Amino acid sequence: MTLAIHGGAPVRTAPWPAWPPPLDDAQRALVTEVLDSGLWGATQGGSVVARLTEAFAREAGVAYGVAVGNATLGLFAALRGLGIGRGDEVIVPAYTFVASATAVLLAGATPVVVDVDPADLHLSPAAVRASLTAATAAVLPVHLAGSPAAMDEIGDLASRHGLAVVEDAAQAHGARYRERPVGGLGDAGVFSFQSSKAMTAGEGGLVVCRDEAVHGRVWSVCNVGRRQGGQWYGHPDVGWNLRLTEIQAAILLPWLDRLDAEIDQRNAFCAAARRELAGLPVSVVPAPPGTTRDSRHLLMLRLETDVDRDFLLRAMAAEGVPLDAGYPPLGGMDALLKEGTRAEPCPAAEEAARSVVWVRQQLLMAGPPAAPHLAEALAKVLEHRESSNAS
Ligand SMILES: *Cc1c(COP(=O)(O)O)cnc(C)c1O
Repeated sequence: MTLAIHGGAPVRTAPWPAWPPPLDDAQRALVTEVLDSGLWGATQGGSVVARLTEAFAREAGVAYGVAVGNATLGLFAALRGLGIGRGDEVIVPAYTFVASATAVLLAGATPVVVDVDPADLHLSPAAVRASLTAATAAVLPVHLAGSPAAMDEIGDLASRHGLAVVEDAAQAHGARYRERPVGGLGDAGVFSFQSSKAMTAGEGGLVVCRDEAVHGRVWSVCNVGRRQGGQWYGHPDVGWNLRLTEIQAAILLPWLDRLDAEIDQRNAFCAAARRELAGLPVSVVPAPPGTTRDSRHLLMLRLETDVDRDFLLRAMAAEGVPLDAGYPPLGGMDALLKEGTRAEPCPAAEEAARSVVWVRQQLLMAGPPAAPHLAEALAKVLEHRESSNAS
């Protein structure tokens, strides 16, 4: 059997589901209604951003939310709303998207990059504990790949040391930790609606929080320093315009009605893939203990065999099953270090950067019938990997 990268027939020729999925009727109707109303901005009296915000807060089991232009700005607004800024250290995991750290820089604080758990690749509570200093003000657990970080342990540490907890839930719409929804577990939680995320309006984000005073400050940060109900040109605080539009909210609000079915579809792919992969030198990176609903933004696979990963990625793409290399560790990024980021040793994140590959959400959306393609393509590429030298 010849690898597709060497001219053989690919394992899969069918296209993967489109992402974003086509608009459904409810989305089309609401977007049209907003467009026709002329109320496109969130300050013109339209109600869709407000309804979306309320729905997210309700889903997260908290009282408040603020919709924002993207999750990077949401993390910034949450940190600033919690009073975190210059002189403060914020602990972030090494295996995450760069925005988890750059949002901390945007707030004027110092990211402290610490290692992840070697098994589940989420922020390690032990690493958090080891990196605490007198300047530590907050910890920013990331619900990586759609599964929640170890929030009980992180919450214990935070309350013992007086730290704020900002959940980066950019990848975890609908995920649950010990039956509790993410976003409502810390002092604030932040979701993303960027193009690659489980709900998207092209761009967008949303902050949820429990505390009324925190909400007031986050709202003000996102609304040019105004107070809710205060004067239009009254700016008692410093803030910015970080708002989401009504048009974006009109794409997102009806999406909530199908999110659960989409999560189920992705989980069904993953369950089937786990069975199909049995016997191959590839393991599924487990969700952290306490995960009761994995929203499956990504399926992360660990290669348990010595293989040239760049070759594997190119060969898998040629087989019609494209995989992703995943994150380089944040602690190795010069741009972050130049801005004062402190990086602890992160052997687990470095190991993940070498041996972990991702199956993206778009592939997971194909459901169980596509799982054999993943396994067949991996088996084929791994079996013929000697030929990697020839390629
Ligand atoms: C996507 C993402 C972000 C940033 O979200 P944007 O909406 O693109 O700003 C932050 N953290 C994580 C973990 C992400 O995956």
